[in-house]
Formats: sequence, structure tokens, C-alpha cells
Amino acid sequence: MADDCLFCRIARDEIPAKIVASDEHVVAFRDINPQAPTHVVIIPRAHIPSLNEADDAATIGRLSLMAAKVARMEGLAERGYRTVVNTNADAAQTVFHVHLHLLGGRAMGWPPG
Ligand code: AMP
Ligand code: ZN
Repeated sequence: MADDCLFCRIARDEIPAKIVASDEHVVAFRDINPQAPTHVVIIPRAHIPSLNEADDAATIGRLSLMAAKVARMEGLAERGYRTVVNTNADAAQTVFHVHLHLLGGRAMGWPPG
């Protein structure tokens, strides 16, 4: 846990967030600046700055499995959705606690911007 990390503080319930699902390992909450009708951010409770520092397959795998669960809860599983992990500057990562974006509820273009 990092004391001054925004997402650690959300995981600890120190900062309010619209939490949609959580378990002992991960927390899923609505993005404050949604880029799609459904935009949920999924984080590990453990503080890992980015995918570059990740070394535990289970922790990273749980992010995807929680995304699939939330997609089912939001009625997106059949029509589809996108999961994204931004890493460092070229990908425009802004919060340095690794997270997976779940985006859905509209058709998306490819390649992404
Ligand atoms: P990234 O650019 O991949 O680092 O994504 C960080 C995301 O966190 C952005 O989509 C922000 O809108 C979102 N975000 C930042 N602060 C909050 C917050 N307090 N609650 C929910 N989402 C947030
Ligand atoms: Zn953190």
C-alpha cells in the first residue's frame, strides 16, 4: 500500500468511489471521467505502479477475470466490450497504480487513438 496513491486510497475506502464489485484481491469502480456508457476501472488491492513492475500472474489475471464478471453484470458480455491497460507516457497512463479499464456500451473503433 502506498499512502499517497489515489487508487490505494480508493481501495482502502479513504476516498469515495462508485464501487461496482470487489473481493479480497481487486476492486472495480466507475471511472470519474467515463469514455463510454460503461467505464469501470479495475485495480489490485496491492500497490503495483504499472504493468512494468508486475510479476505476479495471479494478480494480473484477476483484473481480467473481474472485468469479465463486471461485463456480465452490466449486460455487455454478449455484445462486447474492451479492456485496456495503459502503461507509461506513450499510452497516457496518468495514475501509477496498475489498472485495467473496462469500456463498453458503444461500438469502438480500431486502431485506438
Ligand atoms: P490511466 O490514464 O490509464 O492512468 O487512467 C486513469 C483513470 O483514472 C482515468 O480514466 C481517470 O478518469 C480515472 N480516475 C482518476 N481519478 C479517479 C477517481 N477519483 N475516481 C475514479 N476514477 C478516477
Ligand atoms: Zn497504489
